[in-house]
Amino acid sequence: MIIQRVVLNSRPGINGVPVAENFRLEQSTIPDRVQEGQVCVRTLYLSVDPYMRCRMNEDTGSDYLLPWQLSEAADGGGIGVVEESKHNSFAKGDFVTSFKWPWQTVAILDGSLLQKVVPQLVDGHLSFFLGAAGLTGLTALLGIKEKGHVSAGANQTMVVSGAAGACGSLAGQIGRLEGCTRVVGIAGTDEKCSILVSEMGFDAAINYKKGNVAEQLRELCPGGVDVYFDNVGGYISDAVINQMNQNSHIILCGQISQYNKDVPYPPPLPPEVEKIQKERNITRERFLVLNYMDKQEASVLQLCQWIREGKLKVRETVVEGLENIGAAFQSMMNGGNIGKQIVSVSK
Ligand code: NAP
Repeated sequence: MIIQRVVLNSRPGINGVPVAENFRLEQSTIPDRVQEGQVCVRTLYLSVDPYMRCRMNEDTGSDYLLPWQLSEAADGGGIGVVEESKHNSFAKGDFVTSFKWPWQTVAILDGSLLQKVVPQLVDGHLSFFLGAAGLTGLTALLGIKEKGHVSAGANQTMVVSGAAGACGSLAGQIGRLEGCTRVVGIAGTDEKCSILVSEMGFDAAINYKKGNVAEQLRELCPGGVDVYFDNVGGYISDAVINQMNQNSHIILCGQISQYNKDVPYPPPLPPEVEKIQKERNITRERFLVLNYMDKQEASVLQLCQWIREGKLKVRETVVEGLENIGAAFQSMMNGGNIGKQIVSVSK
């Protein structure tokens, strides 16, 4: 069968900025026959995520991420529909997801890689299973629960960086649902800041590209910061840590500002910031959502319930067409997305 796929065309280089041309659309073929244990799926939506930047390097710098190979199909989170199944758990018409979905229009996958999804849980909005009701939502929820030490009634202030992105926009809302009394976001445009406050219930938002972040933080968090959901690292995080209280907590979700640099993960803090972290006993433990998959089922149900009840507002930036996935990736790495970046492959 003839299909379309997107392969890694070139590597940006360890310190390089990724561009759409690092990917290439091409025609390819897959076998006409599905073997025992396999499932033929048609791709509906693909997820584009910052961690993929590391997979573009020959050495990902991480033991749990494999590098993409040149001229081979890239892969990541995906959702699709079963066209033919020779696996007991799946039937034609089922909607399925996988973290190892190849960037192609149709694929034959081992059934063990797939999980069924129930569209009714998200009122039919299937792409949510790649974002708010998938790994992104789990990252926000489990990051807060496992590393945030949020407790209702404790009058805590939470700051979120990368706040208008996929994880950040959910993290601020979940922080509030879990009991934080004040939630402040940091994002890269006035439009994003305005959406955070008017749609997502943040108390305030700082455009880090305008004015002095430290000054604005001091003004907006007069009681200091108790919980910091860190997506970006770098100078923004240094400014937040400066405002953090004694015995407060950093949720070390990601460090997107450092992904085009050849530095270890997590990147060390500058000495003067590390001194503050130690003196104030601020926790900064590594967090990886994949280490908490035993909590996946219950957590997804919780996220879906909040979404259906309207307690968790979800934003997506959807790009149409597999051929545009490289451009979608480039745009996301430059902050072009509000909420989760999704590529719609077929309807
Ligand atoms: P996302 O939707 O792309 O959001 C990230 C946002 O960060 C961008 O929209 C961008 O918006 C901002 N940003 C980009 N470069 C920046 C820079 N140099 N300085 C400051 N802000 C910058 O990504 P996501 O899926 O939410 O992921 C967020 C982070 O979580 C990433 O670091 C990712 O690796 C991490 N993550 C971790 C886990 C885990 O298990 N720990 C799981 C999933 C994701 P603006 O610049 O316009 O604000």
